[in-house]
Amino acid sequence: MYDAHNHLQAERFAGRQAELLAECPEVQRMVVNGCCEDDWPSVAALAEAHPQVMPSFGYHPWFIHERTPNWEKELNQLLDAHSAAVGEIGLDRWKEGLEYAGQEEVFVTQLRIATERNLPASIHCLKAWGRMLELLQKGPVPARGFLLHSYGGSAELVPVFAKLGAYFSFPGYFLRQAKGRHRETFRTVPADRLLIETDAPDQRLPDPLNANQLTDPNGEPLNHPANIRVVYSELAKFLEEPEEQLEKRVEENFLRLFGHT
Ligand SMILES: [Zn+2]
Repeated sequence: MYDAHNHLQAERFAGRQAELLAECPEVQRMVVNGCCEDDWPSVAALAEAHPQVMPSFGYHPWFIHERTPNWEKELNQLLDAHSAAVGEIGLDRWKEGLEYAGQEEVFVTQLRIATERNLPASIHCLKAWGRMLELLQKGPVPARGFLLHSYGGSAELVPVFAKLGAYFSFPGYFLRQAKGRHRETFRTVPADRLLIETDAPDQRLPDPLNANQLTDPNGEPLNHPANIRVVYSELAKFLEEPEEQLEKRVEENFLRLFGHT
């Protein structure tokens, strides 16, 4: 199995990363997304220690206001040194109190870096789909494609984004009752553009499906990366597709976008 998007470096995992990985023996590869200069070194260290970790480096819109004058140089150095993706990058007009100013500039800069290097880019977008579409249409975008992680845009935009090179990843959070519209949208995703993710430690599954219980040191619940198994099987049921067939096409899609190394 392939986890197209998570944050295994998160401090909330309290140093238990090796243990968590040991609990995911079926995961061939996971893309571990850094979010800011502060956590890029831990993503790099995880990738060096664990062959199943594909590192991804980027500035998430929630953290761009912490960036130092050196951030772009540092990002380029990491991308020189590692076989990596670019992410998590994006636009967010949903999070309360988050400034929008500066988000587009930082996003476009990172999209350009991914494009110049032809690296896959992992994109976060909340309540900014119109601008996201405009910026991607203006481009350029990586020739190999890019990931719209936890795609929550409209079904109407799926073919438009797909034409630009988008892949769409389905998180376990969309198995919640209230996420019916989001689930339905995934029926319209082209067969060769579907991916699956946990976004661990975030986006917990609904309680009855949460096969791998996990908490942080304060007892706050976390999403365990081994829950990828449940996301695969529940999505297969929802799409009325044999699980083996879903596994096979998600593998092909993952390797086409993120590469074999
Ligand atoms: Zn994420």
